[in-house]
Parts: sequence; C-alpha cells; structure tokens
Amino acid sequence: MNENDLVARIRALASSSFGLALGIGDDCAVYRPRAGEELLFTTDFLIEGRHFLRETHGAADVGCKALARGLSDIAAMGGVPRFCLVSLAFPGDGKWMDGFYNGLLSLAREHKTALAGGDLSRSDRIVCDVVVCGSAPTGTALRRSGARPGDAIYVTGALGGSAFGLATKKGKAWKRHLRPEPRLAVGKALRTKYRASACMDLSDGLSTDLHRLCRESGVGAELDGDLPVFPGASIEQALHGGEDYELLFTVPAKVRIPEAIQSVPVTRIGRIARDRQRRIRIGGGFLLQPLGFDHFRERDGL
Ligand SMILES: [Mg+2]
Repeated sequence: MNENDLVARIRALASSSFGLALGIGDDCAVYRPRAGEELLFTTDFLIEGRHFLRETHGAADVGCKALARGLSDIAAMGGVPRFCLVSLAFPGDGKWMDGFYNGLLSLAREHKTALAGGDLSRSDRIVCDVVVCGSAPTGTALRRSGARPGDAIYVTGALGGSAFGLATKKGKAWKRHLRPEPRLAVGKALRTKYRASACMDLSDGLSTDLHRLCRESGVGAELDGDLPVFPGASIEQALHGGEDYELLFTVPAKVRIPEAIQSVPVTRIGRIARDRQRRIRIGGGFLLQPLGFDHFRERDGL
C-alpha cells in the first residue's frame, strides 16, 4: 500500500463532487463561486489524546466529528457548506483510514459537501485538520458582533449532553458526544427568515462562548438561569461543558421565534444588556465566569 493507492481509495469513496469544477486528482481543486455569494472558511484540528482516544472513539465517529466541527462553524454563520479539505496523519492502518473517511463522507453527503482534496502523512499519533468552505449571499453571513442591548438570547437543542456523554460513555449523551449534529438548517433559517442579530456555535461551553459573543458585540448579558439541560446532565455541564455544537443566537426583542426551527427546539435563555464591562449575570445577580473549555488555561501546564 503506497500513498497513490491510499489517494485512489479515498477518491473512490468520495465519488460525488457536488458542483466542484475540479475535484481530487490534480494539484488544486477548482471551485467556481456563484454570482452574489461570498465564501466562508473555517479550519479545525482533531488530535488523538487531545480530542479523542482510539480506544473509545471509533474511526467512523472520529471522521464524522472532524467534519461536524467545521460544518457547525458554517451553520453559525448561516452559510451553506460547499466543500472541505482533509489533512490526515495516521499510523498507516488502512482499515482505520477507511472507517475515518466513511464516517466523514456520510456526513459530507448528508450536507452536500464535496471532499475537494487534502494531504496524507504517517504519524504514530492521529492528527487531522479539516478545512470547510461554505458560502452565503454577499453581506448576509451572521456574525458574533451584532448583538444589541434588549435583544433576546436563544440556544438550540439542549446543553451539556456532550460533556455528560464523555463522562458516562453511555446512551444518547455518548452518541451526542461522538456524533454532534451541525445545525445547518437552523443557521440558514436564522439568516434568511428570522434576521438574527448575532450567532455563533457552542464549541467550548455556553459560559465561555457567550463571553466571546458579548466581547465582539460590546455588550453584557443577563441569563434567566433556566437553561435547556440535556437529560441527565448537570447545570455545570450545561453552562461550561464543551462540544455541544448547538447554536447561540440573538434577535431583536420584537422578533417572534417559534418553539422549534427546522424541527430543532429553541429556548430563550436571557437578554443582552448594556454593559461596558461585558459582564454576564445569571439568576438575578451572580456573575457568570467563562469556565468552559480552554486548551491553554494555566492548569493544563502551559
Ligand atoms: Mg465556532
């Protein structure tokens, strides 16, 4: 088995090109932008020992999650995914590689995302990086910076499921951790129909991510303290647990938001407040600290 054989295998698996002008096999892929659209780019690492363990996370789950993280970022902008580039360093086990690409490509097909190319390398530790390119009509992509005092704050789905699943490795929560569902249909509806003022995806935990949204928007927030908690998860997991990949968004107070968007429940969790110090209050007065996931926090020894 050599690199050419591996690329031929991946190329056979990635049969659909979803509108790419030129896909795998040349020096570059070619994507021809449509009139009036602008392109969105995101890249995410998935590293063995850091984001997953080979003993507990199956190859297909790792492939699926590697792409889901990027698709979730496209969803957060209200975009439509177009193609991805996948770079993978792994020990050279062909069976593991097939599982990885099968998992990744099943999610790619579901969201009409072409695998446009990538790179392969040998490494004892599995490292993969996925670049996703999406698009949105010019000037319409949802940003973190648009929240204004008085806007209502919402989240999709339930929070804490991924952290709870990682702790228990059982049931629906574990499945949620292994196979997050990027909220692409909701993101698009938030852009086209509900005119969300700001939006982002929850990758590192509500407490950390809401602080990021408030910082970009130059506002504070008040949370009711009544969160949609994933069944079985704790309030700490809902507030600070990472990898839920739900959407956090704001809308002007006068916009009516239904109980579900594209069959995904949405819950109002608070409102944006005028606060130069960008503080977040919860349950009437307590300050919410950003205690979600941070790769570089001091306690990790860096
Ligand atoms: Mg994100």
